[in-house]
Amino acid sequence: MAPLRFEIVTIFPGFFAGFFEHGIVRRALAEGLVEVGVHDLRAFTHDRHRTVDDRPFGGGEGMVLKPEPLAEALAALGIEPRSDTSPCQGTALEVAKAPDAEGGGGFNPRNAQPESTGASTPGESRTRVILLSAQGRPFTQAMARELAGQDRVVLICGRYEGVDERINRLYCDQELSIGDYVLSGGELAAAVVLDATMRLIPGVLGNEASGEFESFGVTDGEIATDADGVPRSQHGAGGLLDYPHYTRPAEFGGLRAPDVLMNGDHRQIRRWRREQQLRKTLANRPDLLEKAALSKEDLKLLEALRQQTDQAT
Ligand code: SAM
Repeated sequence: MAPLRFEIVTIFPGFFAGFFEHGIVRRALAEGLVEVGVHDLRAFTHDRHRTVDDRPFGGGEGMVLKPEPLAEALAALGIEPRSDTSPCQGTALEVAKAPDAEGGGGFNPRNAQPESTGASTPGESRTRVILLSAQGRPFTQAMARELAGQDRVVLICGRYEGVDERINRLYCDQELSIGDYVLSGGELAAAVVLDATMRLIPGVLGNEASGEFESFGVTDGEIATDADGVPRSQHGAGGLLDYPHYTRPAEFGGLRAPDVLMNGDHRQIRRWRREQQLRKTLANRPDLLEKAALSKEDLKLLEALRQQTDQAT
């Protein structure tokens, strides 16, 4: 199987150097399980100052990433503009069609001649073009799982006030946000998407199943629990948060690691871990419980935990 290839378009290609040199990302790259191309947006400019930004139409603060260098960078990756410019996922804005949209002056992305990279348009080669944006849909583990099944993921990093919206309309399949806060640029967000996606590719994690049994793991009751509600795995998943982890020493800072984890009874350990998952999810992310795969035993336990919470308040 060909490795999943990430293409990152950025004005700061050097940003990613350290990120690629550590841990699982480094190993996955070294073993050829994933490939990454980092593309300097300024290489697709044609003026002396290598200008990538311009003032916003309508006035206001800051600068906007110009569409032409981005369109050329995408063309060099074999990415064609879409013919259907209706808003892509996570985009509701209307943009008027340029009078010269089918030809005429200026750069027209429909007429761009891509360099041959062996890639074709989105859909044919399972290429996903993503604009990193605080205005995008929230990035989730489920999206990471879906991206891990693509051939190629193109990540466009915005800067300044963002990217000219026509790039989103013409090229992007998804506009993704990594959280409800504003970063200075899309590079950190691209690193987050790459990391979360890459570790779900078969072979990247030592244990094939470990991605399933972490926080937000698959919501599959078959995997999550036995008929009696005890998780089948050493770990737990089913769309809940992970349980707390402990290692040696058994005593630290006046706190003892839970005895149940050291008694060798794996059934008890699984029960304890499941209860911890439910406690943590109820306390920190009760919204996840609505979609989680819960057994009858889980539901009973949750009811008891809720009652405990009610009594404590
Ligand atoms: N004016 C934009 C807004 O209010 O939504 C913020 C632009 S931000 C300063 C510059 C770039 O950082 C964005 O174009 C985007 O690529 C990236 N960025 C900022 N916050 C992000 C987030 N939460 N998720 C993904 N990308 C983000």
